[in-house]
Amino acid sequence: MNKEILIFGHKNPDTDTICSAIVKQILNEKSGKDTCKAVRLGNVNKETQYVLDYVEIEAPELLEHVDEGQEVILVDHNEFNQSVDGIDNAKVLEVIDHHRISNFETAEPLYYTAKPYGCTSTILYGEFKEKDIPIDKKEATLMASAIISDTLLLKSPTTTEYDKKALENLSNIAGIDLEKYGLDMLKAGTDLDDFSEEELLNLDAKKFEKDGVTCVIAQVNTVSIPEVLKREEKLKEAMQDEIKNENLDVCILAITDILNSDSELIVLGERTDVIEKSHHLEDDKVFLKGVVSRKKQLLPMVENNI
Ligand code: MN
Ligand code: MN
Repeated sequence: MNKEILIFGHKNPDTDTICSAIVKQILNEKSGKDTCKAVRLGNVNKETQYVLDYVEIEAPELLEHVDEGQEVILVDHNEFNQSVDGIDNAKVLEVIDHHRISNFETAEPLYYTAKPYGCTSTILYGEFKEKDIPIDKKEATLMASAIISDTLLLKSPTTTEYDKKALENLSNIAGIDLEKYGLDMLKAGTDLDDFSEEELLNLDAKKFEKDGVTCVIAQVNTVSIPEVLKREEKLKEAMQDEIKNENLDVCILAITDILNSDSELIVLGERTDVIEKSHHLEDDKVFLKGVVSRKKQLLPMVENNI
């Protein structure tokens, strides 16, 4: 077992998950708490790598599973089915998150910070302020990048006033031009050429279950939906494989245009009605204007239709 407290975000890590784990480790060090170590539960995506290269730090170590009794801090998630293997028998000391609370239970009391902000790093920014701990350039860049990523440069409907304020202050400290750095960073994550269709599907996928219906909603960001749809047939094959292997009732791939803030969905499986009750599918697809958020827009729609 690892003696240090391990800090990590969800599987299929995104920029918020990686940056918030790193920043939480720094915050704990600066507040004189027990030693802890940020780790990751999967490959770093290209957007996140852009950020890590920019601040010149290495990605956290990969963690495959945790032993019984391992002390952990969760950031950017709480649902055990999105967490590390073995989490059921770990000791969760603390959670800092901005998602719904579900599939989560502990045997012992814990610190739990949940705020409905657009990003975990916005909550962490608030903790720096509250504790009056100075934020350096690197920390500011990490937190700003997480906010840019989760809110798609403040354009996602998940964006709150807290995110706007935090990002304004953090980008000043970081000395970054928000529009330029933000778009460069988001665009770095849209280079999908090196990935197989199966990998594309797993870049940012989350599994949900409601009333016995198991659903995966995967999302890829792009600057051109037609470009991604050139691979439609192969993507559908990969989705069918996923449905078979993971016993899914429905698999949804959201291809999100980060410049125009729209998404095209591909919907496959036995329960495509979770989308069809709201939108007509043509050739298994539907274009949704103004839809970019899985959490605030897609998931509530799917759950309503189950
Ligand atoms: Mn996340
Ligand atoms: Mn997040």
